[in-house]
Amino acid sequence: MCAKTKKIIHDTSHITYESLLEGNKQFIEDTLNEDPHYFEKLANGQKPPVLWIGCADSRVPANQITNTAPGEIFVHRNIANMVIHSDMNMLSVLDYAVNVLKVKHVIVTGHYGCGGVIAAMSNQQFGLIDNWLRHIKDVYRLHADELDAIKDEQERTNRMVEFNVIENVYNLCKTSIVQNAWLNGQPLAVHGWVYSLSTGIITDMKVSAHNSEHMANVFKFQ
Ligand SMILES: [Zn+2]
Repeated sequence: MCAKTKKIIHDTSHITYESLLEGNKQFIEDTLNEDPHYFEKLANGQKPPVLWIGCADSRVPANQITNTAPGEIFVHRNIANMVIHSDMNMLSVLDYAVNVLKVKHVIVTGHYGCGGVIAAMSNQQFGLIDNWLRHIKDVYRLHADELDAIKDEQERTNRMVEFNVIENVYNLCKTSIVQNAWLNGQPLAVHGWVYSLSTGIITDMKVSAHNSEHMANVFKFQ
């Protein structure tokens, strides 16, 4: 079973431009068989209670791993699930999710074995992406004492993935978007999760925040 699954994931030669469109036809047929009004209902609008900020990695799709359906999770993905304050894409998604959709939860989800984190922990140059990865190196610097003390490379990488999630949850809390929601009494919680590619298990980093009380004073807006 495992070997078969692995083979399917690693052999993507059956995926072609045409096969995607064929897959769409099959999706429509299967969906309508189950619920003839599915698309009419979905087209009426969305009210997802959750914003997901995850990694672009093809193996971490928000809906599948949480057993949710289209319409239930608003999604933003980038390399290594980063919350960077000058990223207009992320800020626009966050602003729309919090202020228009009124999501109740924002979840930063990282994953063990994250290529972005591994690349950032190396000294290799990768080109343009180095400018993005530098934000991850900044996270490393904040926790360098603990990370440098971990001798096992995989263990050190895993811990770095966790720190990267924790710092990006904190970055969310620093945004005026999240803080204004809290100041206005809007129910909004931010959370940090790490997904294991090898087991499918999501681990809660237990850094959930519902207000700015835990934050360093310099970041608190009034
Ligand atoms: Zn990743």
